[in-house]
Amino acid sequence: MYLFEHGFIRKIPLTHPAFAAASNRLTIDLGALADNWRKMGRLSGKAPAAAVLKADAYGIGIEPAAETLYAAGARDFFVANAEEGADLRPFVPDGRIYILAGMWPGNEQLFFDNDLVPIINSEEQLSLFMSAISQHGDHPCALHVDTGMNRLGLTVAEALALANDPVRPASFSPVLIMSHLACADDQSHPLNRRQLEAFRTVTQAYDGVNASLANSAGVHLGPEFHFDLTRPGIAVYGGEAVNGMANPMKPVVTAEARIIQVRSVRSGETASYGASAQFSRDSRVAIVAVGYADGYHRSVSGGGVALRQATPSGAFGFLHGRKVPHLGRVTMDISLFDVTDLPENAVRAGDYIELFGNNVAVDDVARAGGTIGYEMLTSLGHRYERDYIEAE
Ligand SMILES: *Cc1c(COP(=O)(O)O)cnc(C)c1O
Repeated sequence: MYLFEHGFIRKIPLTHPAFAAASNRLTIDLGALADNWRKMGRLSGKAPAAAVLKADAYGIGIEPAAETLYAAGARDFFVANAEEGADLRPFVPDGRIYILAGMWPGNEQLFFDNDLVPIINSEEQLSLFMSAISQHGDHPCALHVDTGMNRLGLTVAEALALANDPVRPASFSPVLIMSHLACADDQSHPLNRRQLEAFRTVTQAYDGVNASLANSAGVHLGPEFHFDLTRPGIAVYGGEAVNGMANPMKPVVTAEARIIQVRSVRSGETASYGASAQFSRDSRVAIVAVGYADGYHRSVSGGGVALRQATPSGAFGFLHGRKVPHLGRVTMDISLFDVTDLPENAVRAGDYIELFGNNVAVDDVARAGGTIGYEMLTSLGHRYERDYIEAE
C-alpha cells in the first residue's frame, strides 16, 4: 500500500499509525479501479478503453492510478495539460499520452521531451504544431473536431477542408480523430445522435485514422458510439455517468473523518453558524473534523445554507451501520451530524464517520450540494491521509 503525505507517495505498511490516527482519511481501492476500467473496456466492445487521468486522476493520485491501470493493460492515456503529461510519463513507459488542452506557444518542448501527443483543438494550434514539427521533426498529434459542444475542436467544415486540402502537408497525419459529447449523460437527448452523425462525416474523410468519441456516458450509448477507442473517466473512479441509471461501478474512494466530540443538545436550542441547526427534541450531535477545506462542500449543508434550494435536504454520513444527517452549516474544518437515533453510547469521540464510499454514494453527497461526483472527488484537498489498497 501507499501513504500519501503532503504530495509524496511512500510505500508503507498497512498498519501505519499515521493512517490509524488520521483526522481525515481516504481509502482508495485500486482493485476496484482496475475492475471498473476492465468493465468499461468490456462495455466498449471491440474498442479498447483509454484511461483518463487528468486532475491527479480525478483526485485519487496519478501515480497509483497510472501504475494500476497500466498493469491492467491500459496503453492510451488522456490528461488535461502537458505538465500532467510530463508527471505521468515515468509510470507508463510505452503508453501513448494525449494532452487534451494541446500545445501553446512556449510549451512545445514538453511534448518532445516527454513524448506527449498534442490534441489539436483549433486552427491556431494546428499552425503552432506544424511550425514546431518543422523545427523538431515529425511527431504524432491528434485532431479534435467540435461536433456540437462548442468547447474545443476544429469545426466540422474546417476538419473536412483540412482532410481534402491538396496542399495539406504530408507530415500532418493525426494518429487519432476525436470529438466529445455534450449530453451523453442524458440518453434521450437529440444532440447525441446529431453529434454522432457529424462525427461520422469527419471520420469518413480521414479514412484509416483511429477515431474516438465516447466518454463514460458515451460508452453506455451503445456500439455506434465506440469507434476505435473509448475514453471513460468518472465511471472508472466509481462515479455515476448516466442520469437515472443505477450505477454499475464499484466505489473506489471512501472518505472518512474523525469525531472530535459528541454533544448533548436540548430541545429548543440551536447549533452551528447562523443558529442554522434547530432542535425540536433533545439530541446528540457528533462534531466531526471535516469541512469545506476538505472538499466537503458548504453547499452539502442541509437547510443550513439558506439560499440553496436545489435539494431539500443535506448530505448524510454513515456511522455504526446507519445513515446520519448533516446538521447546520459545513464550516471550514468542522461539520455536525445528528446521531440521536443511534443507540446511546454507540458513538464516541475518535470514531470515524464515512462521508462517502461503500455506504454513502459520492454522487448522493454531490446531489445534496447541487453538484456532481466529479467535483467531490477532484476537490478532496491535502488534509487526508491516504491508504491505497493495491490491486491483485
Ligand atoms: C474528461 C474527459 C473525458 C472523460 O469523461 P468522463 O465523463 O469522466 O467519462 C473524456 N473525454 C474528454 C475530452 C474529456 O475531457
